[in-house]
Amino acid sequence: MCGIIGYVGEKNASSVIIDGLKALEYRGYDSVGIAYHTCNRIEIIKAQGKIANLEKKLKKYIITHYGLGHTRWATHGKPDEKNAHPHRIGKFTIVHNGIIENYESLKQLLNGYKFKSETDSEVIAALLDKLYSEKNDILKVLVQVKKLLIGSYALGIICDDIKDTIYAIRKDSPLIVGINDGGNFIASDVPAILKYTNKYMLIGENEIAEISNKVKIYNDNLELVNKEIITFEGNIESAEKNGYEHFMLKEIHEEPEVIKKTIKPFLQFGLDSLKENMPDFSKYHKIEIIGCGSAYHAGLIGKHLIEKYGNIPVTVHIASEFRYQKVFTDEHTLVILISQSGETADTLASLRKVHGMGIDTLAIVNVVGSSLAREASKTIYIKAGPEISVATTKAYMAQITILSLIALNIGYTNKIISEKKALEIIDSYEKLPSYISNMINIDYKKIAKVLAKKNNCFYIGRGIDYALSMEGSLKLKEISYITSVAYPAGELKHGTISLIEKNTNVIAVITDKNIADKTINNIKEVKTRGATTIIITTDKIDNEFNPADYKIVIPTTNDFINPMVATIPLQLIGYETAKLKGCEIDTPKNLAKSVTVE
Ligand code: GLU
Repeated sequence: MCGIIGYVGEKNASSVIIDGLKALEYRGYDSVGIAYHTCNRIEIIKAQGKIANLEKKLKKYIITHYGLGHTRWATHGKPDEKNAHPHRIGKFTIVHNGIIENYESLKQLLNGYKFKSETDSEVIAALLDKLYSEKNDILKVLVQVKKLLIGSYALGIICDDIKDTIYAIRKDSPLIVGINDGGNFIASDVPAILKYTNKYMLIGENEIAEISNKVKIYNDNLELVNKEIITFEGNIESAEKNGYEHFMLKEIHEEPEVIKKTIKPFLQFGLDSLKENMPDFSKYHKIEIIGCGSAYHAGLIGKHLIEKYGNIPVTVHIASEFRYQKVFTDEHTLVILISQSGETADTLASLRKVHGMGIDTLAIVNVVGSSLAREASKTIYIKAGPEISVATTKAYMAQITILSLIALNIGYTNKIISEKKALEIIDSYEKLPSYISNMINIDYKKIAKVLAKKNNCFYIGRGIDYALSMEGSLKLKEISYITSVAYPAGELKHGTISLIEKNTNVIAVITDKNIADKTINNIKEVKTRGATTIIITTDKIDNEFNPADYKIVIPTTNDFINPMVATIPLQLIGYETAKLKGCEIDTPKNLAKSVTVE
């Protein structure tokens, strides 16, 4: 969600900042702006829409060695030029990611200041200016501002009086400090700095970063803090397309490798590594899984497997609902929180809510050192590497892989799965990457052509197949803008079937052979009413009586790895359909990658 980049150093700051903004495009944005120091003043240039629009406005030969850049994902005020960041009032220029909840009451305190935008962010510049005019000590002002702001923020700040320096603070929104010999950075995420450095520090919520030719991090008592320097293990290629037309396609192709990396620590020495590297689940009688979007859908896959094989009740919650609802937990409850970025605002708030109640938490996240990873009692990293496409593919794949391993671990420890069976299942995980590669190589264009013709579509399934359908449906709608609804197949008759007419597209996921016949009947029912039917099923279930118009047959495996194999067609159907429709696949409209606002 939005991108911040700031640079102080020997290089031309405007081009370093533009590079950084481009690398942050994946986060989703609707306008863009840059502020840089030149000829003894701060110049601000903004544009609606894409970064290319800003580049057109930039003067060719600017000499500047520090500045701030911002891609805005509007929350308060239209996505137009006047609301785009940076905002400047008095001596202060700022970029902000997040939402200032008390901006209106702060404005009351700031009479005398004129605001040019409709944003919640501009008030921060005025507040800084007012406090600084009273105190004349920037660090003390920042401590005070942190106390006054309610909401979430990552802030990059320039004060006219303090040359060649950027300040940064954050709460509930991500921000890192990049470090290099010739210059230092602030950024929302690592890809923004990778062209120049792979060394960075995390800024804590009770810290203030001062970036000049040195980096200083202060705590709230204004004592210097010694920070660990982290080296990003990937390379710049991991944040580039590598010849693929879209990041989404590249990331789908990375899935076999992601699975290998994700399972390695848990399976390399058989059942021993599984037991040693997984948290101890023996104390828990109940599991609550919390996530948003695809992470929520991953949780539903986890529920089916953990309940079936671990014999523990699992409830899955949408984080934005969970954080406001009554929670029934005790010391035997484990709360699992799933988020690719580890910064999803509602998931983080849910974690803080249950921590406040003394409940154990386990975070399943991709980004190392993210807020969820730091704050949860335990963390499992999914090892998906940087995921740039807004629509998740490889991170979802790695999340369901981890959840299936958790189910296996609980099932084996609780003696529901025998050692022999567990070893067989482990063996199947070794084969999983090649199953995935085979599924990637199938051509899904024919089905995409059918889907692209209509602007609505239904996905149906039962049990775990319903959970898979939900993710398939989300993939299609978020990138191809086709209204797509996932429905439990048995529920169709209770309302939705009235929407079926000639050529309505219905996709069924039918991989659970115990209830396959029931869903096949539902397919017949919609076909009778004129629907075009597409099924994703296994080679054991498929037979000549299969009534579907189109089918994708996946190999019959086992309950643990089947969800991963079945996911590939769902992802690629979404991708090919969006491509056929000419949609902006990696950055779908109105969506942001890491949803750091509530
Ligand atoms: N709330 C701010 C605005 O609407 C910042 C949005 C963002 O995070 O990009 O301008």
